[in-house]
Amino acid sequence: MNLKDYIANVPNFPIEGIQFKDITPLIGNGKAFQYATNLFVDFTNEIDADIIVGPDARGFIFGCPVATQLGIGFVPVRKPNKLPREVLEFSYDLEYGSNTLCLHKGDIKPGQKVLIIDDLLATGGTIEATINLVEQSGGIVAGIAFLIELVFLDGRKKLDDYNVLSLMKY
Ligand code: AMP
Repeated sequence: MNLKDYIANVPNFPIEGIQFKDITPLIGNGKAFQYATNLFVDFTNEIDADIIVGPDARGFIFGCPVATQLGIGFVPVRKPNKLPREVLEFSYDLEYGSNTLCLHKGDIKPGQKVLIIDDLLATGGTIEATINLVEQSGGIVAGIAFLIELVFLDGRKKLDDYNVLSLMKY
C-alpha cells in the first residue's frame, strides 16, 4: 500500500506559503489507517516501549490505536489549560506561530520506555518540547514515530540522539 495516496496536499493553508499535509483521507480509509497503525505497532514492539505519548491533537489520532492494540497506556501532551492536575510545561516555535505544551506530572514514571507518536515532523519544535516533557518526568525516549516527515525543514537535526521512524517523507 502506498500511504502517500491517502495524503492530500493543501497549498497555502493555514497561511500563505505552507503546503499543508492533510491526513484526514488516510484516517478516513479503514485499510490505510490500519496499515499505518500496524507499522507503528511493529516499531513499538521492536523498541520494546512501555507506554505511548502523543502531542495534541493529531498525536492522539495515531498514538491511541497503537496503545490499545498492544494493551499499553497512552499519555496525552496537551495545550495549556487543558490538563486539570499539576503540569510540566515547555514552550517552542512552530513552522507557523509558537506554542506551549504540558504534561501531567507523574503520568510518565521514571525509567519508563516511551514511544512518542505524532502525525508530522516539520521544524521539530513540537517533538523537541514533547521529548523535553518526557525527560523532565524521568522517562526514556526509546523511539519517535511520525506518519510524515517534511525532510526539507530538517527537523531531524534535533533528533540525532533518538531512534526515529517516519512512514512517509516529502
Ligand atoms: P513542528 O513543531 O514544526 O515540527 O510542527 C509539527 C506539528 O505542526 C505537526 O504535529 C503538525 O500537526 C503541524 N504541522 C506543521 N507543518 C505542517 C504541514 N505542512 N502540514 C500539516 N501539518 C503541519
